[in-house]
This record gives sequence, C-alpha cells and structure tokens, in this order.
Amino acid sequence: MRTTDLRKRCERRIDVLGLPVRFGIGEVCERLESHVGKRIELIPMALPPASPLGLLITDEHGHSVIYEESASPIHRQQIIFHELAHLLLGHTGHPIGDDRRHCMFVHIDREIQGQVLARSCGSTEQETEAEMTATLLLQRAHRSSRPVTVAADPAIADIVRRLDNSL
Ligand SMILES: [Zn+2]
Repeated sequence: MRTTDLRKRCERRIDVLGLPVRFGIGEVCERLESHVGKRIELIPMALPPASPLGLLITDEHGHSVIYEESASPIHRQQIIFHELAHLLLGHTGHPIGDDRRHCMFVHIDREIQGQVLARSCGSTEQETEAEMTATLLLQRAHRSSRPVTVAADPAIADIVRRLDNSL
C-alpha cells in the first residue's frame, strides 16, 4: 500500500474518535474506551534493559498499556499512542500462557537503536499501521498545543518534522 493511502486510512480511523482540537493521552484513552467498550489502563514500569518499551495486554477486564517509565515525555506519548493505535485499528496480539482467564493477548513492541520498531508479535503491516497512526496522533496533539520539543527526543522529533513537511 502506498504511504499516502496508508496515511489516509489511519487518519480516517483517528477521526472516528472525534478528538477535540486540544488533546493528550487522557482524551485519546477516554474516547478509545468508549469506542472499544472496555477499560484501558496505562501502567508505567521500569522495564529491564533489552525488554520491550511498550506492551499491550488484553484480558477479560480490559486492556493494559505498559510503558517504560523513564522514556522522555514525547517518546512516552509515541509508545502509548502506538499501543492505543493497535486497539483503534482492531489488531490482536498473540495468545500467551495457558491461563486465558488472566491474559488473553499480548502485543510487544521493542525499540532498536533509538527507533521505535516493533516486530515481536504483530505482523509488519500491523506495525506499520500502528506506527503511522501513533505518529499522526502525536503530530495532531502537538500541532494543537505547542511546538514539538525537539531536544526531548531527536529521533521522534525528526519523524514528526518530516511528516509535517510532507503534508
Ligand atoms: Zn506495535
């Protein structure tokens, strides 16, 4: 799929949420909870080195997004938006463990050399969609409030800047 088509598709999915002009992670979570009809919990954790930066765990109670607590603010947003994007896009992870009552699906995202790349669980296509949606959300969130803090995380800021220039 061409990048412009992919971006349009992701934009349409974001539009479904009807986000206000000004929004942050809280608003996206609230809208998404209504959209998927389940509770979404954000859980900061000190994840061990070489472990995932973000995980999406689904059980019978709802969805949990676990993210690396030491990530810079903008990077944290990117990680959380990426995991929330999987929910918005209706992606499912892989069943883990025998006890399905406690954990039905897990989706794991890893960071490789400063880039948010996730290939552990979801298909490459799903990861590309989720990352595009997360970047668009990040771009909208920052466009509506204040300029992206370039110093916070150069890698992410660069993605946002390049997307901005391509619009
Ligand atoms: Zn992912």
